[in-house]
Amino acid sequence: MSHRDLVVIGAGPAGMAAATEAANAGLSVTLLDEQPRAGGQIYRDVDHVPDRRAALLGPDYTAGRGLTVALRRSPVEHVTGAVVWSIEPGFCLSYSRDGRGAQLTADRVLLATGALERPMPLPGWTLPGVMTAGAGQILLKQSGVLARSAVLVGAGPLLYLIAVQMLRAGQPPLALVETQTGRNRRAALRHLGGALRGWPYMAKGLRMLAELKRGGVPRYIGAQDIRIEGDTRAEVLCFSHRGRTRRLACETIFLHHGVVPNTQAARALGVAHRWSTQQQCFVPTLDCWGRSDVPGVFVAGDGAGIGGAKAAALSGRVAALAIACDAARLTPDERDRRARPLRSARAREQAPRPFLDTAYPPCAQALSPRDETLVCRCEEVTAGTVRDHARAGCLGPNQTKAFGRVGMGPCQGRYCGLTVTALLAEATGQTPDQTGYYRIRPPLKPVTLGELASLKTPPATGKN
Ligand SMILES: Cc1cc2nc3c(=O)[nH]c(=O)nc-3n(C[C@H](O)[C@H](O)[C@H](O)COP(=O)(O)OP(=O)(O)OC[C@H]3O[C@@H](n4cnc5c(N)ncnc54)[C@H](O)[C@@H]3O)c2cc1C
Repeated sequence: MSHRDLVVIGAGPAGMAAATEAANAGLSVTLLDEQPRAGGQIYRDVDHVPDRRAALLGPDYTAGRGLTVALRRSPVEHVTGAVVWSIEPGFCLSYSRDGRGAQLTADRVLLATGALERPMPLPGWTLPGVMTAGAGQILLKQSGVLARSAVLVGAGPLLYLIAVQMLRAGQPPLALVETQTGRNRRAALRHLGGALRGWPYMAKGLRMLAELKRGGVPRYIGAQDIRIEGDTRAEVLCFSHRGRTRRLACETIFLHHGVVPNTQAARALGVAHRWSTQQQCFVPTLDCWGRSDVPGVFVAGDGAGIGGAKAAALSGRVAALAIACDAARLTPDERDRRARPLRSARAREQAPRPFLDTAYPPCAQALSPRDETLVCRCEEVTAGTVRDHARAGCLGPNQTKAFGRVGMGPCQGRYCGLTVTALLAEATGQTPDQTGYYRIRPPLKPVTLGELASLKTPPATGKN
């Protein structure tokens, strides 16, 4: 089994920047990512995308080539298509690649596993034809496929970006059905002064809204009581808007109300987490270098709290400097000197966050879904059943597994975890911090018996 100074999980902006920085400082570094190519969510396939598609995805997308080129020129060993499913204290990492299991050990681990789209459970959200907006964007980035007759539903800047990309590709969405309200916008105004420190990002937002207006894309702001109707697939989006019921016939519905840190790997390692009221999600508890309370475990990028791609790359580099210093490849003075401009740039990138988080909060209807709405898609458990569990004495998400297999399917709670915490907190009157989250055990991702059998050393077994 090979041994490295550092293993980085995730080849998005945070992981690519961190691995490159650490390797250039002299550490032996392996970068593992389940995707076939470097880039992560935002820069997915950036090195292979045809010119026409690159043009419509925009300069913020092609900017990712700076990171992929630097990664290729560095001595980093980048293992593509590597699905990491176990990290044991110590650190022994197990992953699957091409149908076989493999392992390696490391002195330190940097988790750069990014974000997931926040689950948006609404009546009808499991019908064929409904997917997350990010999934729609993956189809466009990776395969050049565009949905016809699509409606975008939810809130947040990513929704505008995807709508603009669809417009430029000649397949504009039928409408944007937005859940944020005028009250949210007014509340956000108190953060406007701070947000203007990150003015290029804010200016980009205004340009996107102007482009959507010029393109004639209708926007329904403050939509409520959203439901998706259809017999065998999504056919109609129903919602109330300014006191009127609206029905939009469509073939595809893209749901999105923000992204949240993907904390599965950090939780499996026992890293402490806390509830972020501003971002309405759990974030790992870290010091200013991205160092967690578990010795040798660092977290960077959106997995440490949502900050966007540029902030992710900067936080990856900051964490790498700290790791290089801990490994005696940099002096503390050199680490601090190099980190200073990175930190200032990151603060500027993150300046718009309080404004955005307040202006585009997650939609209330999806945070507390109606009883009949499925929340755990893998095990087909409804919100009403989770509320029944709470009434029967179930206090935390982990116990819902015993009560009704909630969170025990292939996604291991990634897509229902926050909803289950919210439902239980609401039912018991506790805070999300008091309610907690699922205990995450390996395997983090589905693994086959063949992959397990092909390992030279049997992995430690996890219990649910
Ligand atoms: C679907 C989606 C689309 C997005 N599109 C945009 C966009 O167009 N523009 C924009 O500004 N922001 C976008 N964002 C937000 C964007 O993801 C971030 O701001 C930025 O990419 C964060 O960078 P990161 O390095 O922290 O994580 P990411 O870029 O998300 O990279 C994380 C990487 O970790 C890998 N990974 C995770 N778990 C494992 C595992 N167990 N084993 C192996 N590999 C693993 C993933 O494959 C991924 O490549 C998107 C977010 C999502 C969820």
